[in-house]
Amino acid sequence: MTPAPWSATILTLYPEMFPGLLGMSLSGDALARGTWALEARQIREHGIGRHRAVDDTPAGGGAGMVLRCDVLGAAIDAVASPGDTRPRLLMSPRGRPLTQARVRELAEGPGIVVVCGRFEGVDERVIAARGLEEVSIGDYILSGGEVAAFVAIDACVRLLPGVMGKAVSGDEESFEGGLLEYPHYTRPREWEGRAIPDILTGGNHGAIARWRREEAERITRERRPDLMGASKSHPTKA
Ligand code: SAH
Repeated sequence: MTPAPWSATILTLYPEMFPGLLGMSLSGDALARGTWALEARQIREHGIGRHRAVDDTPAGGGAGMVLRCDVLGAAIDAVASPGDTRPRLLMSPRGRPLTQARVRELAEGPGIVVVCGRFEGVDERVIAARGLEEVSIGDYILSGGEVAAFVAIDACVRLLPGVMGKAVSGDEESFEGGLLEYPHYTRPREWEGRAIPDILTGGNHGAIARWRREEAERITRERRPDLMGASKSHPTKA
């Protein structure tokens, strides 16, 4: 029996945005091959009343609207089936920042359910009641969770077996060893007066590996000193 493919279910008010860019290039080819599966579901199907309302005004007053917990709860319950152990993510600027370590864990599991917020966000109660893991893609505010969902799913899918042409290219990249990546060069050997560093064209593989390591450390020290000495593993939940 072939194992079920890694699968992403997205709960959104804009299912027509998907697969979108995930339907192209490496992720799109893998989707067409059945290496992974994607399903975008309309939260509004669980909306209230004739107008299928999904949001309401914030308790306590203030600007904007809040996604209702009963609507989102029903949308999540409609996805849940007894054997479905996929983690449920809520894209949220308040969440734990998404890291390559967490992406790797998610890619190694059965898939993910992703809830995309809109408006001011979602009623707090549904987060606890449905065990949603709040995940942020950075310290800025997007207009909705869909773009963040694209980011999380893209990062996972490229790690699935057989998606990237050369499996090894995943292991040397930025973050994988706790460092940012070393600089890359390709032909032409000289361009606008700038040459490829001699060491890379000298054929001494030991020296090349050392140079790359040193460059990776230098760049990380300069740009992201917070990563120096950071451990590769990280806690998945608070
Ligand atoms: N009022 C909220 C922001 C709401 S933005 C606040 O101040 O925290 C609307 C939706 O976009 C959010 O519910 C979330 O799903 C998504 N979103 C916005 N910024 C995000 C980020 N940095 N990472 C992940 N999701 C984000």
